[in-house]
Amino acid sequence: MNQYLKSVIENVRAKHAGEPEFVQTVEEVLSSLEPVIDKHPEYEKADLLNRMVEPERMFSFRVTWEDDKGCWHTNTGWRCQFNGAIGPYKGGLRFQSDVYPGIIRFLGFEQTFKNSLTGLPIGGGKGGSDFDPAGKSDAEILRFCQSFMQALYRYIGPDVDVPAGDMGVGAREIGYLYGEYRRLKGAFENGVLTGKGFSYGGSRIRPEATGYGAVYYLENVLKHEGEDLKGKTIACAGFGNVTWGICKKAAELGAKVLTLSGPDGYVYDPEGVVTKEKIEYLLEMRASGRNRVQDYADNFPGVEFYPGEKPWGVRVDICMPSAMQNDVRMEQAEQIAANRVKYYIEVANMPTTNDALRFLMEQPGIIVAPSKAVNAGGVATSALEMAQNSERLVWSEEEVDRQLRQIMDTIYQMSVDAAAEYGLGYNLVAGANIAGFQRVADAMMAQGPF
Ligand code: GLU
Repeated sequence: MNQYLKSVIENVRAKHAGEPEFVQTVEEVLSSLEPVIDKHPEYEKADLLNRMVEPERMFSFRVTWEDDKGCWHTNTGWRCQFNGAIGPYKGGLRFQSDVYPGIIRFLGFEQTFKNSLTGLPIGGGKGGSDFDPAGKSDAEILRFCQSFMQALYRYIGPDVDVPAGDMGVGAREIGYLYGEYRRLKGAFENGVLTGKGFSYGGSRIRPEATGYGAVYYLENVLKHEGEDLKGKTIACAGFGNVTWGICKKAAELGAKVLTLSGPDGYVYDPEGVVTKEKIEYLLEMRASGRNRVQDYADNFPGVEFYPGEKPWGVRVDICMPSAMQNDVRMEQAEQIAANRVKYYIEVANMPTTNDALRFLMEQPGIIVAPSKAVNAGGVATSALEMAQNSERLVWSEEEVDRQLRQIMDTIYQMSVDAAAEYGLGYNLVAGANIAGFQRVADAMMAQGPF
């Protein structure tokens, strides 16, 4: 391996030994960049890679909130402003009990490359808290969000850093966070957050965008193989906003999602999550805060529930891990290969361990697409929301959807071209890393030491 690359990876391993997710994503991305680094010795001279793995700024803050019984609790909040070379920091907030700096740092790093791939002017950022929203009342969520924003509001802004949702942060939380920001600043400030409700500056299609974008990307991959979505079966994970969008668009295009999952196990629906009633039920499951996928099987006849299991052993045409990081490990990857699944389309951020990803990419019959390209439609539509807010305009559903589709087609093509340029063949994983890297690298080189 290129000596400079190797030394950067070793630096990160040594410095972040307690943050395995961050080490994992750095190893994955940097190992794709070898031909680029070989070709550009000036990057080493500028120490570009060590700069890229170091966030521009990352901070934590205290969030104290009162529960319904009048007891106070203290959580930690974080914001990582990873890279602002191509635009204001942009990325979601994740509220989940297992959040710690390693999760925020890995997500911020991924976000930088993903946002670059969209071709839009957005830098990479991420934030969140170790607060667990499960089982909390609406009033508790409100008080938590208000306290969180009281700590964060000084450090964000429409030209500085524009947070959005992620796991545990949906339209309700964005509403509460935004209300508090507006009260503290006494200004609308172009909406400052994305994923807002439509009545106060949210964009059409933003709730669906990550799932729709993933399906649009998938259509490009299928087209390359001379196939289309009609009649295809899909295994998904999770049952949140992203999976909901995939089910909706897949059903519209004649494919069906057969599995959903949750912390309690997975469900298999032989008829597919295709009817309006079933698709809309996912929203109810999420709103209930129960975080249980078994509810789906209890509600619809003919659906089987497998407690404590993952859906990756099910025979389907397409796997779309759309729940969370490291959901697919070596054991699941082997099942996927044994089932002769042809399309492995990552959706959640880093859903595959590095060894499993390498294994899947080496299987001759499997096409692998990486999450940072596949799920970029979400943040891309956030950038379209920012554009509408700053123009004081509202675009129609058709207009946003048209732009989303175009962005996904471009991301796919840029990835294909980048891999081909460096002699890597049809390699969507390396192509996305290279294309995402190139734009940020050019901007950083142009701006001098930072
Ligand atoms: N959290 C989402 C992501 O991983 C969306 C971020 C955004 O819209 O800013 O890309």
